[in-house]
Amino acid sequence: MQTSRGNLFTVSAPSGAGKTSLVAALVDAMEGIRVSVSHTTRAMRPGEQDGVNYHFVSRETFTEMLNNTAFLEHAQVFSNFYGTSKSWVEQQLASGMDVILEIDWQGAEQVRRLIPDTIGLFILPPSRAALHQRLTGRGQDSQDIIDARMKEAINEMTHYVEADYLIINDQFDVALDDFKALVISQRLTQQRQAQRHQPLLAELLS
Ligand code: GDP
Ligand code: ADP
Ligand code: 5GP
Repeated sequence: MQTSRGNLFTVSAPSGAGKTSLVAALVDAMEGIRVSVSHTTRAMRPGEQDGVNYHFVSRETFTEMLNNTAFLEHAQVFSNFYGTSKSWVEQQLASGMDVILEIDWQGAEQVRRLIPDTIGLFILPPSRAALHQRLTGRGQDSQDIIDARMKEAINEMTHYVEADYLIINDQFDVALDDFKALVISQRLTQQRQAQRHQPLLAELLS
């Protein structure tokens, strides 16, 4: 079997819809797929670890990286800056790994323009009340931040139309199964399979 380039996924959702939980569970459950750790200027939440949840950097460092074209994409969300490391993503894809970018719709748009075969997934909560409940239940953001994120959620959610796939995160396990099915289906496209199984095809068709 040959190594073929990995698939690139963007996962976008309003804050609190469950994208981080779903992506973490998927990466735990499946081989051959990794999530990119973004750089951010936002403050670390309780329980977060530098280099695990994010690379937490100062505005100065972020700007320097931006000037050095270190980012595949970047965006300002809730007055903080977020960016995806270009070199890490490229290395992973080249080595055959599937890669997930948990990024906002602005970032997803930039990535789609740069890498047109990117697969865009949007995750929605089952209701507005559930979204509010999850943001509150996570217990990591102040009331002001929760209010701002609820307000921004509507704007973020209008961008579901730009995604290729849509998952409603109502029952977590059902949403996770949907997500796994999507990743597997993208590995089974004729183009990917033909790349991976070149020797087999050569033998079968000789
Ligand atoms: P959470 O979504 O509630 O967990 O809050 P975060 O502060 O972790 O993320 C806030 C927003 O920034 C979300 O919409 C993320 O998708 C987005 N985001 C995180 N990393 C990146 C990145 O590297 N690039 C872009 N464009 N957006 C990002
Ligand atoms: P996001 O990364 O989109 O901001 P998180 O993954 O942090 O969202 O999830 C927000 C909160 O909702 C977390 O406390 C998480 O445990 C919870 N959550 C995620 N999915 C579900 C679900 N299907 N049902 C109930 N709670 C959920
Ligand atoms: P906590 O942050 O307190 O662990 O969870 C906040 C809320 O999210 C709780 O209502 C909890 O039941 C829910 N939740 C957390 N993780 C999961 C999960 O993996 N699946 C489901 N269905 N709900 C979860």
